[in-house]
Amino acid sequence: MTQSLERSGVHYLDAMCYMAPMAKRIGKPTASTSEDEKTFQALARHARSSLALLGEDTKREGLIDTPKRYAKAMRFLTSGYNRKIKDVVGTALFTEASSEIVIVRDIELFSLCEHHLLPFYGKAHVAYIPNGKIIGLSKIPRIVDVFARRLQVQERLTSQISETLMDVLKPLGVAVIIEADHMCMMMRGVQKQNSSTVTSSMLGVFRTDPTTRKELLHLLGGLNSR
Ligand code: ZN
Repeated sequence: MTQSLERSGVHYLDAMCYMAPMAKRIGKPTASTSEDEKTFQALARHARSSLALLGEDTKREGLIDTPKRYAKAMRFLTSGYNRKIKDVVGTALFTEASSEIVIVRDIELFSLCEHHLLPFYGKAHVAYIPNGKIIGLSKIPRIVDVFARRLQVQERLTSQISETLMDVLKPLGVAVIIEADHMCMMMRGVQKQNSSTVTSSMLGVFRTDPTTRKELLHLLGGLNSR
């Protein structure tokens, strides 16, 4: 498990590196978005106050730009609120007669627990059975991100993804399974570093037909994929 945690740690760092340029873009409002700029400055101000309340010297070199970096990062990590599913899906819905299970597994996800504002991260496995329409496969991880980049609880994240796919595709069924590690459990609280949380949301035939559900779980080959 230590190995698995290390691996998760690396993923997290990778994601932070990847986020940095995006955060820069989102966090740097143009003159036409003065409201955004005001909000951004207020966020940074609050972060500076928090640092001072925690007993930090906010003038020291390492912290001088931290409030701005925090504001940029938080904006990126909550950018899912501003995304519209119809923009994400775009024109990537196609007519297709197939009614076999489609699975996109091991979708990396990073989210923030709304109770502690600490990350939780892991993998989502998303499956659906088409009912005349399929969706471009790359859209599924994007839909996951729309809901992951918000303040979340894992249970709600799971059902928001499944309900959205149900709504967009009107498929015979949708299944979403998320396995995630919560930093608020690992670093604080019960300090359990080896426990992950698994949530699932089964809709349509995945809910009503045990054989279909069994087939899905067989195809996923167990949940210990990390
Ligand atoms: Zn938490």
